[in-house]
Amino acid sequence: MPELPEVETVRRGLAATVVGRPLGPVVVTGQRTVRRTSPAAVVKGLRGRTIVAAQRRGKYLMLPLDDAKLLVVHLRMSGQLRLAPEGSPRPKHTHVVVGLDRDEELRFVDPRTFGEVVVVDPARLPEEAPGIAGLGPDAWDDLASPGDLAPVLMARSRALKPLLLDQHAIAGLGNIYTDEVLHRAGLSPWRASSSLSPSEVERLHGVLRAVLGEAIEARGSTLGDDQYVDLAGGGGTFQQRHLAYGREGQPCGGCGGPIARVKWAGRSTFWCPTCQA
Ligand SMILES: [Zn+2]
Repeated sequence: MPELPEVETVRRGLAATVVGRPLGPVVVTGQRTVRRTSPAAVVKGLRGRTIVAAQRRGKYLMLPLDDAKLLVVHLRMSGQLRLAPEGSPRPKHTHVVVGLDRDEELRFVDPRTFGEVVVVDPARLPEEAPGIAGLGPDAWDDLASPGDLAPVLMARSRALKPLLLDQHAIAGLGNIYTDEVLHRAGLSPWRASSSLSPSEVERLHGVLRAVLGEAIEARGSTLGDDQYVDLAGGGGTFQQRHLAYGREGQPCGGCGGPIARVKWAGRSTFWCPTCQA
């Protein structure tokens, strides 16, 4: 499932290749992808427009158009944006196709169909895209110093893992990066957020910045059973540097003991019970 580093990689790809180019014919074949409005609304909202910038908030892509509307793309579980030559075979599960100049097209591909494409009026964001309006500070763009992270942790007394996963508290983290960050910070996923000392907050902040920075540099994580690829169809490489996520039973880099796994609320948590006591 794409998280902040993967969505940021797609954003940078769009900024480099799609921003500033006129959008041509739009074809919507996946009703569920445009469920927030309708196929007609997405076709009408995009045809003839130009994407003027590529922005991101949490796991949402926010693409302002030249008529002051906003194209919002949420990849969720398995959504992909793919840039491809017009006329090349479209992958199965292609739900939206937007024509571009130079005989190329932008495709939204999504096997599990949880992803969404919507064109909204930014002034009506709270009504038209409530998921975005409720986002907490962005884990990469808005947490420059430990002082930006501390209020997020201290305002609530919640276990660290569910707190970091809560997009209303901090936007952008999912299961992979939460486990990697807590492992490298030596903090238990079940530790109460408000119990962290100032030096622990500082450590968590430093690790959060480092992990996200490295993962963005590595163009994200592409897992065997998952679907994340970038605009050109290439995978990321950060999975090769995972120290906790997906490593149940393998030796912890810190103590040599086995990485543990527990299933909670339908998700797996990977951690070292010794180093993250
Ligand atoms: Zn360990």
